[in-house]
Amino acid sequence: MSVEQQLEKCPKCGCEELFVRRDLPRLLVLAIVVGAVISFLTLCSNPATRVAGMWVLAGSALLVLIVYLTAGWYTVCYRCRAEFHDHAANRMHRSYDRIIARKYPPPLPAKESKFNNPL
Ligand SMILES: [Zn+2]
Repeated sequence: MSVEQQLEKCPKCGCEELFVRRDLPRLLVLAIVVGAVISFLTLCSNPATRVAGMWVLAGSALLVLIVYLTAGWYTVCYRCRAEFHDHAANRMHRSYDRIIARKYPPPLPAKESKFNNPL
């Protein structure tokens, strides 16, 4: 299977139910928002620069919107929660659906699995 091929089923567990998520660079968005808030509060403390503070806030919101709209997509398996960032998004897959997710309870962490094992 080539890397650019669309996923039909999960390569790890074989589950055919997958969903897509936006591959948003969360740290970049967080840095933009924190920088915007600090700049806004600093500029708004002085009445002479209050308008500049509003423009910084508006420009930051526009920048976050551009980052959001240009972010790619990645695929996630409902059963094993494996994430596949290197495959092209399959148009047949939709966003996360709670109804489908109820069929696949989240996998237990390793500690709980050992705890439940009587050996
Ligand atoms: Zn899987």
